[in-house]
Amino acid sequence: MPFILLNLYRDRLITIFIDVEQVTKYWLDEDNKIIDTNSYWNSFAMDNDGGKVLRDRVIGKHLFGYIADDNTRMLLDTLISRVRHTKKEMTRPYRCDSPQRKRFMEMKIIPQEDGKICVENRILREEELAERRDFKTVKNEKGQPFLKRCSVCNRVNDKTGWYEPDHPHVSKYFTKGKPTFVAYSVCSDCQQDLKNRLSRLQA
Ligand SMILES: [Zn+2]
Repeated sequence: MPFILLNLYRDRLITIFIDVEQVTKYWLDEDNKIIDTNSYWNSFAMDNDGGKVLRDRVIGKHLFGYIADDNTRMLLDTLISRVRHTKKEMTRPYRCDSPQRKRFMEMKIIPQEDGKICVENRILREEELAERRDFKTVKNEKGQPFLKRCSVCNRVNDKTGWYEPDHPHVSKYFTKGKPTFVAYSVCSDCQQDLKNRLSRLQA
């Protein structure tokens, strides 16, 4: 909901519209370096433990320096390159869960002048997870056991398949009060979904 309506009563009724659309935006130059972010960026970063990605720290840095795994980087690179090449904006759904909530998000990639790109991320809806799930990205994949987690749909994989993080099948991998180690990737369903989308655009 982009606007909140406030009714303040003093000697008369006053109606004020405030734009409270919670959208993070960042702009990329033609080499995918971050040129700027909007002001909401910092609120979102702080709410999500993102002190390292506050506005002043990310400007001038390469976007892909913030994406640890090759599959997610390739997927995002494909989307951005496609938008830059076709000069047509593209919208993709994804998940960015917090420990207690499933967050259904949307990413809009919008072409700008001179090969620049604007990326908008907004929350479409949220759902409570059946149980809290804390994740930590594994630093050394040989050092400790971990699950794979899809950076697009946020499902986790225990080698038998991909499951919602609160699915009973994967509950044995979670201990209350302790994070479960994960390595991010993109699941085959999300990869296929992107391929289908791109081929439909080409047709
Ligand atoms: Zn996925």
